[in-house]
Amino acid sequence: MSDNLNKIIIAIDGHSSCGKSTVAKEIARKLNYIFIDSGAMYRAVTLYCLRHNLINNGIVNIPELRASLGKIKVSFRFNSETNHNDIWLNGENVEQEIRLLTVSQNVSPVAAVAEVRNLLVALQQEMGKSKGIVMDGRDIGTVVFPDAELKIFMTAQPDVRAKRRFDELTAKGEKVSYEEIRDNIIERDRYDETRQESPLRKAENAIVLDNSYMTREEQLDWVLDQVAEI
Ligand code: C5P
Repeated sequence: MSDNLNKIIIAIDGHSSCGKSTVAKEIARKLNYIFIDSGAMYRAVTLYCLRHNLINNGIVNIPELRASLGKIKVSFRFNSETNHNDIWLNGENVEQEIRLLTVSQNVSPVAAVAEVRNLLVALQQEMGKSKGIVMDGRDIGTVVFPDAELKIFMTAQPDVRAKRRFDELTAKGEKVSYEEIRDNIIERDRYDETRQESPLRKAENAIVLDNSYMTREEQLDWVLDQVAEI
């Protein structure tokens, strides 16, 4: 019998910077599943737009972007040094660059373009065909895998999220202020929740995880308990 019979799809959606990818990565490691950070794919397309002047002051040149989609190749490749699936854009590892604040500040309008979503959702669904996958994002439980066996909606108080992201970026040496991080988090959530295409919302059958006052270990245990129940 195939191994896949016992494997499930775990969809983790939620607000910006609440540690979805960290939890998803750890769960995937524990279960020996594939981990996919779908946000990295939207960030890579945004990086392409920034490099090719397809976005200016938050306004996307949609006709040009549509015409360029055939030239944008986004994929994941395993990095044996970090044990992580890095994101590649047209033959270049952009795992670090996509995390810059400029990318965070431009990604939501790019992710709101229907053709961008169609392209990336098709790739994501292909990756989940054999199950055994943990994917995090904004529309994973609602659009990408509406039949996922486990759906989690993660959130945390904005101040807590901003502080975590600020610590993370300054530790990497990026010069950012706490206020601009907080503004970006709030603005991205607003944009993602109110867009027409696949807005961020909790799937009806998703379980909420508010991790404002939880440690990483507590979150991991919480999710593993949910998996065990299935
Ligand atoms: O997860 P991350 O914060 O890296 O996502 C960056 C942005 O990409 C989000 O703010 C959202 O605009 C977009 N996104 C999306 N759908 C997903 C994942 C990310 O629209 N499934």
